[in-house]
Amino acid sequence: MQKVIAIDGPSGSGKSTMAKNLAKELNILYIDTGAMYRALAYFASLKDIPFQEGESLTRYLNDLTIEYGNEDALIRLDGEDLSQKIREHQVSALASQFSQLPSVRKFLIGFQRDLGQKTICVMEGRDISTVVFPEAFCKIFVTASAEVRAKRRLSQLVETGKDEGISFEQVLKDVEERDRLDIEREVSPLKVAEDAVVVDTSDLSPADVLKRLIEISQEKAKGHNLSL
Ligand code: C5P
Repeated sequence: MQKVIAIDGPSGSGKSTMAKNLAKELNILYIDTGAMYRALAYFASLKDIPFQEGESLTRYLNDLTIEYGNEDALIRLDGEDLSQKIREHQVSALASQFSQLPSVRKFLIGFQRDLGQKTICVMEGRDISTVVFPEAFCKIFVTASAEVRAKRRLSQLVETGKDEGISFEQVLKDVEERDRLDIEREVSPLKVAEDAVVVDTSDLSPADVLKRLIEISQEKAKGHNLSL
């Protein structure tokens, strides 16, 4: 058994906010693995590393120093704080392409396992309950319809001034394309773990989702004699 609350789900399902709130509520570490894929992809694009397996990618990964910290400086690569930059819309598409590469996944899965083994945590992503921590004591799959997710994503971009005039139709198309890439990829595809509890957030308020996640986590902890 691994002392991890593993939360997976498609983009825009609300899982990041919910996972963060859950960790805060339980007073445990929150780990956002999407931020890692985003940072690695963005940094690679800055350095003109081709998005394909090969010598340049291997060298890039071998030489990289990655640091995962707190909310203020969530992610640093080679000492550079990328926490803000990775939230821009175009970085989402870069991340979903870069995360297809097996050596990128291998690199980050190793890093995530090291991080998650140190202390009880909430770890959130696409393959946490299926690949990174398949023995996690608590597995939750958070989802919502594509339309609801696109609507949320657009509001988020507008709120943070990162929308660049993008239309709802375009955001929906992007959401669906990212889903397709996540679901169809050969390594670590997005899927519901057999023993995961599915939470559909389409018609739930954020407060209700959080309440449900707390209930599930505490129930699972009890079943494993863990105190939360
Ligand atoms: O969760 P977020 O949208 O920030 O993730 C960015 C991208 O990183 C996703 O589109 C997905 O392709 C990839 N990702 C992944 N595995 C994870 C977390 C994120 O492939 N565990």
